[in-house]
Amino acid sequence: MFDALTDRLSGVFDRLSGRGVLSEKDIDEALREVRVALLEADVALPVVREFISKAKERATGEEVIRSIRPADQVVKIIYDGLVEMLGGEAAEGLNLALNPPTVILMAGLQGSGKTTTAGKLALKLAKDRKKVLLASLDTRRPAAMEQLAMLAKQAEVDSLPIVPGQSAPDIARRAMSAAKLQGFDVVILDTAGRTTIDEAMMSEAAEIAKIASPTETLLVADSLTGQDAVRTAKAFHERLPLTGLVLTRADGDGRGGAALSMRAVTGLPIKFLGVSEKIDGLDAFDARRVAGRILG
Ligand code: GDP
Repeated sequence: MFDALTDRLSGVFDRLSGRGVLSEKDIDEALREVRVALLEADVALPVVREFISKAKERATGEEVIRSIRPADQVVKIIYDGLVEMLGGEAAEGLNLALNPPTVILMAGLQGSGKTTTAGKLALKLAKDRKKVLLASLDTRRPAAMEQLAMLAKQAEVDSLPIVPGQSAPDIARRAMSAAKLQGFDVVILDTAGRTTIDEAMMSEAAEIAKIASPTETLLVADSLTGQDAVRTAKAFHERLPLTGLVLTRADGDGRGGAALSMRAVTGLPIKFLGVSEKIDGLDAFDARRVAGRILG
């Protein structure tokens, strides 16, 4: 996803290291090029501004210019800035409830990869020996309910039996009582996706959140939709108490910068990356690994 950005940045760094001794002007010029590279990759403007101003502060001191390999110092400053932009060094995994069940509420627009991600999470948790229940609350799309039941089979976890005609809040209540009666460690609730954010969707999601008191409310967003994904995340976060983000299609070849802006714009931790269509295609998000990949 970050190939173009990687190419651009390595060009900047090559020119810089080719110079040997650096002046403040050289560093300024390099940072200007980094700025353009980030903007072209579709990183949101305010995020780029903040990034560059911090990098400038760190890079223009005598320490960098006088160091033995100043270009390496600049690369390190850019790396540190990226890690910071992506949420820092500590990886934020899933929070589990002290008293089971842990409830994970999945939210997102239709087509974002929400249902697939619910299945992927179930598999991950099952591998950690958790007893997982998947429940689809997508009452408007029977196909989505079937899809989740199929994913549950693949992940070898349980899915809540489908009862036609029940409302989403009713299904949420049924899932919660099944979890308590049958001793599930984790309940994953897949909410209905819509093509646009609307009032009905938000009030339904808010009602479900009230019923299920989720430990995690994860917004699933498609990285390939660029700044639209960022706007969606902001809009959801204004209405639902989200606890984290999952960015899908990180395996695609979009520009990637929107995904890089996500954390800074919403303040929410990115917890996972969807990296393939397959059920095991979900990686725990690691800011250092992503920053390292961007720098090539
Ligand atoms: P939902 O409407 O949000 O529940 O979306 P789905 O889970 O049905 O996913 C829509 C499509 O995106 C499906 O074809 C998925 O296989 C695909 N998909 C989901 N996540 C990823 C991902 O991380 N990478 C790729 N390449 N495809 C994905």
